[in-house]
Amino acid sequence: MQKKKNCTKNYHTDTRLITTGRPTEDHACFVNPPVIHASTVLFESTDHLYSGKAKYSYGRRGTPTTNALCDALTDLEGAAGTVLTPSGLAACSLALLSACKSGDHVLITDSVYEPTRNFAAQVLTPMGVDVEYYDPRIGGEINELLRPNTSAIFTESPGSQTFEMQDIPAIVEAAHARDILVLLDNTWATPLFFDSMGHGIDITIQAGTKYIVGHSDVMLGTISANERAWSRLYEVHGAMGYHVGPDDVYLALRGLRTMSVRLKQHQASAMALAKWLQARPEVDRVLYPALESDPGHAIWKRDFTGACGLLGFVLRDCSQKQAFAFIDALELFGLGYSWGGFESLVTYVDPRGYRTATTWDEPGRLLRLHIGLEDADDLKADLEKGFAALVTPR
Ligand SMILES: *Cc1c(COP(=O)(O)O)cnc(C)c1O
Repeated sequence: MQKKKNCTKNYHTDTRLITTGRPTEDHACFVNPPVIHASTVLFESTDHLYSGKAKYSYGRRGTPTTNALCDALTDLEGAAGTVLTPSGLAACSLALLSACKSGDHVLITDSVYEPTRNFAAQVLTPMGVDVEYYDPRIGGEINELLRPNTSAIFTESPGSQTFEMQDIPAIVEAAHARDILVLLDNTWATPLFFDSMGHGIDITIQAGTKYIVGHSDVMLGTISANERAWSRLYEVHGAMGYHVGPDDVYLALRGLRTMSVRLKQHQASAMALAKWLQARPEVDRVLYPALESDPGHAIWKRDFTGACGLLGFVLRDCSQKQAFAFIDALELFGLGYSWGGFESLVTYVDPRGYRTATTWDEPGRLLRLHIGLEDADDLKADLEKGFAALVTPR
């Protein structure tokens, strides 16, 4: 038997990533929890079942495997509780469903992950929720958009395509003065680089698919809430019937153990490449809040403790055809959605098509890079091939 229990609170975060979510009572002497495939739970007696005292009741409502991951995230986030969803998008939609009802007004950042915007249009609006988008740079002036029926503000900082930083403490202050919940899609910073609960966020979301899992092989979402939001979130999660399979939960727990060392490398390489890109004559602007030149740098420096591997850059005087030639010339950067895995990725981004509260008027072409764990010099050499391909006729 292991000698100590879950006394992780006094350790530094890197140590807690190793010790948390490993309850000894459910898996005896093994380092990792068992992968429990379960629907039915067998009870010892009618008393055990009907007294409501059993720890586990049914596979959908939690197993030792799912509880280990929920407990780890609750601990890391300093939250009252955590629920798991089958994708990051399901985490965004469930968090919103738990925070509003028909007749309410909900504010969503204009820089939000586009499928979250689609959920609002396809589900919240037809349900009778009044959805309004706001400029991500609004800060405390969000006060002027609050109405008597506003129930929630959905933030994402920085936006995962356009990288605007939000003044979360100012938004929280305005919202809490009127008893409005503040939600955050914290996928970019992860719990390691932005302390959601410490900054007053009520409900914080991770697309676990990204850095928690870290290996591009699982879809997963996590939602952690403070005391104020937890009981309603837990009820709605149970009512919706969400459950995540044990193999995927196991891979997320495994990914969590190395998340800090991976992020340190993602951050170092992303910073090196951001500075290198910034010095290129073909590049108009690099979008990475950790860079001093970024318009959101002051907020990033005040509130965050690190930056991940996701950044954008604008190619100057460039046609779409030339930007596509840049992408097609790359070998190490895969062309594909998602990010947060060990490998580098590139996508072409055009925010003009979906913005409603703000306009995106960069004259150049926006590319998004996920800087993976390859050698940074090899990634630079790969991008050189992209720059060389810009000679393609317009
Ligand atoms: C990827 C992503 C999501 C959705 O996660 P999935 O697991 O792909 O559904 C949500 N928010 C942000 C910011 C993302 O990057």
